[in-house]
This record gives sequence, C-alpha cells and structure tokens, in this order.
Amino acid sequence: MPLSELEQHIRCIPDFPKPGILFRDMTPLLHDRFRDTIDAVIALFSVEEWQGIDAIVGVESRGFILAGGLSYALDKGLLVVRKPGKLPPPHHTVSYALEYGQDSLQMSSNFTPQRVLIADDVLATGGTLRATCELCERCGHTVVGTATLINLAGLNDFMWNGLRNRALFTYGD
Ligand code: IMP
Repeated sequence: MPLSELEQHIRCIPDFPKPGILFRDMTPLLHDRFRDTIDAVIALFSVEEWQGIDAIVGVESRGFILAGGLSYALDKGLLVVRKPGKLPPPHHTVSYALEYGQDSLQMSSNFTPQRVLIADDVLATGGTLRATCELCERCGHTVVGTATLINLAGLNDFMWNGLRNRALFTYGD
C-alpha cells in the first residue's frame, strides 16, 4: 500500500485543541487502514533490525495502539509507559517540561533488561519521546529505536543515542 494512499486517511484540523495548532487526527487511518499502517511501520526497519528488538514500548495513550499492533504482528513483548498513578510499584518516574508546566511518565522496573523500540503516534516537540527513552534506560532497557506515525520535524531535532526517529509521514522539515 503506497504511503500516499495511507496519508489520505489523516485528517488535519486547524485550531484544535488550541488556536494556532494544526491537529493531525489519525482515527480515520486506524479505522480504515489499521493493518496496512502496522505493515508500513514494520517496513521502516529491516528484518535484521527487528531481530535485534526484544520488546515494543507503548506510550499512553495513543502509543498503545501502534505498540500493540507491532507487538502482535511481530510476536514481541509489549511494555507500557503510563501516566502517573496507574502502575503499581516498583516503577520509575521521569518528569518533563510542557509548554506550560510539566508532566510525568512511569514505567515498571520489574522486567529484565531488554532491547526496546518505542512507539507513539506523533513526535511533536520530542518531550514525550525523550522522557520515554530516559525512563526505559532507568529501567535498565536499551533503546534501539523509536517509531511514530507522524514526525512534525519543524518542531524538534529529536535524536537518542545517535538514532533518529523513523516515521511514516514527516511534515515541516
Ligand atoms: P511532544 O511531547 O511535544 O513530542 O508531543 C507528542 C505527544 O503529543 C504525542 O504523544 C501525541 O499523542 C500528542 N500530539 C501532538 N501533536 C499531535 C497531533 O497533531 N495529533 C495527535 N496527537 C498529537
């Protein structure tokens, strides 16, 4: 399935959730082309790269969708990064800055160290992905890649351990 066909199922909504923001709504893509979308993300990495990945990390909440699909399709473990107060101990917490204020994410620290790929829907400023990478490493895991459906490249220069994020669609680069 050509990426240009998948892209037609992303809706752009101006001034949502705040004036000046162009929101990319992936719900039509998930409804109309979920399997093709998962296959397209799988194709962003080589067979050898996938062989070097033990588990997929999903970021609450929309990252769970992509991570769940990848985990199922590739028969790999699924690890979750959650908003505070949802995970029982033991877990680690990482806080990160938002435009106004700050937010935190948590991850269970009771899994053996693994080579992980982090999945989320959108890479915007990179704050969420960066905090998730840090959290994975605090929990003993090695981040060997990150994947998103969209990279709003004009808003970030995201890299982790020398690795660039891979995305189906890149805007504003
Ligand atoms: P960041 O931390 O600024 O990179 O923002 C990434 C997070 O914001 C992701 O987890 C997304 O769920 C959400 N996000 C940012 N922009 C959009 C958008 O245009 N559509 C959907 N989600 C978005």
